[in-house]
Amino acid sequence: MSQKLIFRDIDEPGLNTLDVYRARGGYGDVLRKALATPREALVNDLKASGLRGRGGAGFSMGMKASFMPKGQMDKYLVCNADESEPGTFKDRELMQKNPHLLIEGMVIASYAIGATKAFIFIRGEYAEQADVLEAAVAEARAAGLVGDRILGTDHSVDLWVHRGAGAYICGEETALLDSLEGKRGNPRLKPPFPANQGLYQGPTLINNVETLATVPLILELGADEYAKIGVEGSTGTKLVSISGNVKRPGNYEIELGTPARELIYGLAGGPEDGREVKLWFPGGSSSPVLTKDDLDLPYDFDTLAKAGSMLGSGAIIVVDDTNSVVDVCLWLAEFYRHESCGKCTPCREGTNWTVKMLERIQSGVATPMDLDIMASVQTQIMGNCLCVLGDAMAMPVGSMVEKFRDEFEEHLERARMANPFAADEPPSDPALPLVQGALV
Ligand code: SF4
Repeated sequence: MSQKLIFRDIDEPGLNTLDVYRARGGYGDVLRKALATPREALVNDLKASGLRGRGGAGFSMGMKASFMPKGQMDKYLVCNADESEPGTFKDRELMQKNPHLLIEGMVIASYAIGATKAFIFIRGEYAEQADVLEAAVAEARAAGLVGDRILGTDHSVDLWVHRGAGAYICGEETALLDSLEGKRGNPRLKPPFPANQGLYQGPTLINNVETLATVPLILELGADEYAKIGVEGSTGTKLVSISGNVKRPGNYEIELGTPARELIYGLAGGPEDGREVKLWFPGGSSSPVLTKDDLDLPYDFDTLAKAGSMLGSGAIIVVDDTNSVVDVCLWLAEFYRHESCGKCTPCREGTNWTVKMLERIQSGVATPMDLDIMASVQTQIMGNCLCVLGDAMAMPVGSMVEKFRDEFEEHLERARMANPFAADEPPSDPALPLVQGALV
């Protein structure tokens, strides 16, 4: 179940320094061999390994790299270190304790696609990790491992650490690129995709921290050996952040395909004694929720997709039976309302009205019809937004209303009984009845 590749040396004192990283084999034969391998063969290795992006979308890294145009032109490699999905904190630990693994992965990936400029876009809240990365990049540059003619080869790449300003939307790859260019972090229309027109309109490969840090490990093991770990369609290991109502929250490295029960109960200890799992988010707060009946599902990309959810960022949030599902929904909707960039109507208005409808349920003025309206709002958001943020609220909220409808109705009834005159009070927002009329 627990298998260490990325985290194998993670608690080694001083691993963040070049000396200790090198003493553990870093920047050694793997890097030398990679830089002597034809670029196309390296990309083929990444494809053969089956490595899927670890940031959320789960797209094949090798395929993405193969979309980059060949030939001489300015190309960019960008590492998405804007780890903002609630419940996700694995990249933080990786960057803080083993920054050189990420840097080595980026040197190899930049060589594979022919990029000469690389950036790590790190969320503003990770100031400590940004300091660690900057120190590591400086060490690597001084040792000739970043910069001109690395290890005496023809490959040159410079690398910068760029601090974001703390917006969730900048985890979306095109908003991240805009922010990196110095603009407001707004998502772009796709296509064109970044591989064709990304940073400064040039071809750009964007991958998450864990994905890029896995590259040297794949080459060390060999793509075929790496592909034997995990299950078909979900190869390798995965860092998972487990949080919420568990006894041992934290980051764990697991083999993909391990049953979720082993992760939640085996590694993280499960909920406190006498409590049980009510629901769990398998892939961060934007994933549709699963219930205790789903605990024996293998934790991998395809199984979770078939179950109606997703592996996402690999963040499992456990909610036990002491919590109200309405409270969880409201917490979630408030977060996404706050983070919506406001560019498109279904997301901007949908997140706002979802919060208002949940507040109506809490205050005892809602009727069961509000639940239908709320479910309908989620359906109307999904697939109709410019980027995935709208869906990131609609999917989990929609799944909670669907799976816990009885609890919503009970909650609503209890709130009405507790405040019998609430329905006679004028709505806090006079536009609400109009919006309800428009939505039904
Ligand atoms: Fe902005 Fe939301 Fe539209 Fe994304 S879905 S572009 S965050 S308004």
